[in-house]
Parts: sequence; C-alpha cells; structure tokens
Amino acid sequence: MDLKKRLEMAEAAKAGQLPEISDLEELACLSEQQVLDLLPAANAVRRRFFGDQVHLCCIVNGKSGKCSEDCAFCAQSAHAKTSAPVYPLIDSGKIFQGASYARENGVHRYSVAASGGRLPKAEVRMVAEAFSRMGGEGVHYCASLGILDAEDFALLRDAGVDRYHHNLETAESHFKEICTTHSYGDRVQTIREAKKAGMSVCAGGLFGIGETDLQVLELGLALRDLDVDSVPVNFLLPIKGTRLEKSSALSPLRCLKIISLLRFALGGKEIVICGGRETNLEELHPLVFYAGASGIMTGDYLTAPGRNPQKDHAMIRRLGLTALWEGKAE
Ligand code: SF4
Repeated sequence: MDLKKRLEMAEAAKAGQLPEISDLEELACLSEQQVLDLLPAANAVRRRFFGDQVHLCCIVNGKSGKCSEDCAFCAQSAHAKTSAPVYPLIDSGKIFQGASYARENGVHRYSVAASGGRLPKAEVRMVAEAFSRMGGEGVHYCASLGILDAEDFALLRDAGVDRYHHNLETAESHFKEICTTHSYGDRVQTIREAKKAGMSVCAGGLFGIGETDLQVLELGLALRDLDVDSVPVNFLLPIKGTRLEKSSALSPLRCLKIISLLRFALGGKEIVICGGRETNLEELHPLVFYAGASGIMTGDYLTAPGRNPQKDHAMIRRLGLTALWEGKAE
C-alpha cells in the first residue's frame, strides 16, 4: 500500500469512515520496515478523536492464582507451575487503597481484577459493596472478574462501576491454541451481557502468542463488531512455568504495527496499551501514542512490575500530550 493510499485512509478515518476490510488486510501485510511510515496516519486518526489528551489506568490484582482455566500465557493458571502470588479476594481496605493510589497519581481509571473463570457471586457482592462505598473524586471505576451474568453486572453497575473489562484474548481462529477450558463464545457472551446491563466495555487481547498479522486484524474486527468502548492491548511477557514460557518477545516495530492496525480498524475507540509495553517496545514505547494508542496502563500489572505513574506523566508531558484527569489537582 503506497503513502497516498495510507493518507487517504487516514482522511477517511478522520471523517468517521472505517476502512474497507481489503484495505485493512493490505495494512496487516505491510513489512516491519514500512511500519514507521504508518505512524503519521495512525496518529492523525488518534488526534481526530482524542486531540492531545491521553488517559492513564491502573489495576489491583484483587485475587491471585489458582485459576481453574488453562490460558497458555497466564501465570495465575493452576495448570502452570509459576511463582505468581496466590491469595484470596482482598478486603475492601485494599480495594480503597488502590483507588487512593489512582487518585493521588492522577490516574483516570482504576480496576479491580480477579483471577478465575468467574468470581463466585458472594465475592462479586463483596467487590460491589466496596465500590459502592467509594467516592469518585476524578477516578472512574472498572472491574474484571471473569465470566459474569446479568445479575452480577447489575450489582456492579449500581455500585458505581461504569466499565467492565473482559478480553477476547485472541482471534477466534486462534483461541483453541490458547485456552481449552472455556470457549471464545463464553467470552463474547460476557461482553454482550455487560453491554446489555448498560456498562461500558473494555475488551482486547494479548499479542505475541502465536497469532498471525491477519489474526490481529480478525480480533480487531470482532471487537469492532461487538462495539466495545475500549481495547486493551497486551504484549506477552513470557513467564517461566507457563505453556508460552519459550516464546520470544515481539519486536518493537511489530508492536507498533499491531497498534496502528487496530487504530485503523477501530476508528474512534479507546486503545490502551497495557502489559508488556516497556519489555516488548523497549526504547520505542513512547511511540505507542503515535501508533494510535489513546491511553496506557501505569503502575504494576497483574503479576509483573510496571512503571511508576509519575514517570508516565513525565513521558506524556515531554511528548506534548496531556493526561486526562477530572479530579482536583494534587
Ligand atoms: S487469563 Fe484469567 S481465566 Fe485465564 S488462566 Fe489467567 S486468570 Fe484464569
């Protein structure tokens, strides 16, 4: 695909017109050498929808390890032999602590994530109860508690959780290679239920787990069809003891290509770069915004250390961008 065509696609995307699937397939087939040429167009699409504003989100691992599911990449699966921490659902004090950390660091969204195929109903109630006792003060609340039903979503929504996170993980055509204990359809169903309950949905996936470029696009198009609001992008951190422990990190250019492709496929949806940002992109990680990302996760990841939010704020300022913050200035 030549430069003129890429710029035409950017112009069309800026006007709210999503590219033809055949054009996206052409983009997916670009070589890594051509990736940096894609950035100006992907950045223009991001700017059209988000201007100079990007957002930060952070998570707390609310329940760790001993998960009955067999996701090939996950340190928390009981099928893997890893040294990831194992603990039951944290108490409300720890959930509040995470929210204070978000507020003190100007982090726009805070999520409680729990391991497991689904959180038992009594524990969903405990999490909802904790959220219902927190004031917002600039922070929006999210939860990631596995495969839930309509009743659970209503509880979370009424407690002030406005967004539910549930990744599709990977393209449907690759899903069975990654997980056999639940289906891609189970994940789609959860996303549909969360939307039906009136929640905003954050759903994306993990890259570097053996998917092809066309499967990256397949996932992007599935998320577009589900009309999710935000797409978290994770890059594999191979963890000893998991089935994917021997996978190699993605090249920084491949990561940028994945982000750009998703930006073109998803138009004005949020794209948030999460786990594996620094490890896979190395020195190039600040370029994620120029590839089309509208946000990043800051602080620690579920089972791996991340970046200090103040460092991420400094990076955002140096790039001439501003971090979205609706609370009081600290
Ligand atoms: S990704 Fe979630 S469902 Fe899969 S093994 Fe890890 S904690 Fe369990």
